[in-house]
Amino acid sequence: MQIIIFGSPGVGKGTQAKILAVKLGIAHISTGDILREAIKKETDLGKKAKEIVESGGLVPDEIMAGMIKDVLLDERCKNGFILDGFPRTIQQAHILTKILSELNYGKPILIKLDAKDEIIISRLGNRLVCSKCGNIIVNTDYTENYSCHICKSLNSYIKRKDDDEEVIRRRLKVYHETTAPVFDYYHDKAIIIEIDGAQEIDYVTSNILEKMKTD
Ligand code: AMP
Repeated sequence: MQIIIFGSPGVGKGTQAKILAVKLGIAHISTGDILREAIKKETDLGKKAKEIVESGGLVPDEIMAGMIKDVLLDERCKNGFILDGFPRTIQQAHILTKILSELNYGKPILIKLDAKDEIIISRLGNRLVCSKCGNIIVNTDYTENYSCHICKSLNSYIKRKDDDEEVIRRRLKVYHETTAPVFDYYHDKAIIIEIDGAQEIDYVTSNILEKMKTD
């Protein structure tokens, strides 16, 4: 099963992708997580991507192309995968189509999550992320000596540099101008499922699973 989870930053792609990957027994591939890990480890990729990621821009397609091919050919993707954060440009969509056809995969499922920009700005501005396991909480739930209820790390929650309001607005602009048109590219190249991403997490998950059964 090959799934693309699509939508603006902060719409809940990462949250839903993590849940669906466990429920469906497939790999969760987040290009944002791969880039953040590379930045943390100061690898060549991380050095190239750092400034772009932290300012809310897009890492060049040539860099993303090499990265995604390596990941999708990896053993852990052989039972299927859910792609979170890729493709973000038409060029990346072409690259993905080529890889899927080389691997003899059929049409992917594209899950599109929607929410208004105001909801996104408020969500991203108020979120904290566990630097160890990537779990997300709302900053009002955070207290001193908070330990992550998923990986149990102490004081591990941070605000992502790109969750600053000005950067959020830039990420949304990039989404509307460059990434949103990718949805049209898939109108005949994927099985499309559209979901209201403004709802509660569990409700969104069951909506997705329900629609996957019927489509
Ligand atoms: P995300 O965690 O998906 O919101 O991604 C965080 C940041 O990583 C983005 O704002 C981009 O700077 C970069 N990034 C992630 N995926 C891609 C991609 N497919 N193409 C270009 N840049 C990406």
